[in-house]
This record gives sequence, structure tokens and C-alpha cells, in this order.
Amino acid sequence: MEDKNLSQMQKEIDNWANQFTEPYFPPLSRMAAMTEEVGEIARVINRMYGSKKNKENEGIRDLEEELGDLLFSLVCMANAEKIDLRQAYERKMDKILKRDSYRWERKDNQ
Ligand SMILES: [Mg+2]
Repeated sequence: MEDKNLSQMQKEIDNWANQFTEPYFPPLSRMAAMTEEVGEIARVINRMYGSKKNKENEGIRDLEEELGDLLFSLVCMANAEKIDLRQAYERKMDKILKRDSYRWERKDNQ
């Protein structure tokens, strides 16, 4: 399996989407789609670790699938809004490494 970076993922999905007359859903529909995927992740997690363990065939593969669905929705949102996810990632990591540097207790040797 090819290891793709964020730019490659955004380009691949944009190329796929642009073959259609309406490449991306309207903004509120995109938000609803992302929210649906988060809910599906919650359902899988609840069945894996919560009290609702009534489907023995749900597990890590289902979680992988739903995380993939959410990643796709996230990239669609970024593409439709012309957001570079590499830049978004760098901004987030900058916050974590600087602003939040002392937020969590570290292991003794770090
Ligand atoms: Mg899904």
C-alpha cells in the first residue's frame, strides 16, 4: 500500500470529486456527513468497549472503516473550502508543542 501524504490525499480526492457536476456537497450537508461519521465511530466504540456489546462482528476493522470514512469527509471539507491540511496540521502541532507544551504530566525520563 502506497504511503500518501496529506497533499496527495487532498489531490486524489479532488481529482475524483471534480469528475462530477457538483464535486462537493453544500457546506451544511458536508457538516452533516462528517457528524454522521463521528456518530458511527461512537457506535463502534460503544460496541467494542461499552455496555452495548450485541454485535460480535463489530470490532477494530469496523473502527478502521469508520475512521476512513471520517478522514474522507474531513478531506472533502478541506478541499471544498480550499484549506491546505498540511498547513492546518502544522498550526495544530505548533500549538501542541508550544502553547500546550507543559499541559500534561510527562513520564519521568522526558
Ligand atoms: Mg461510515
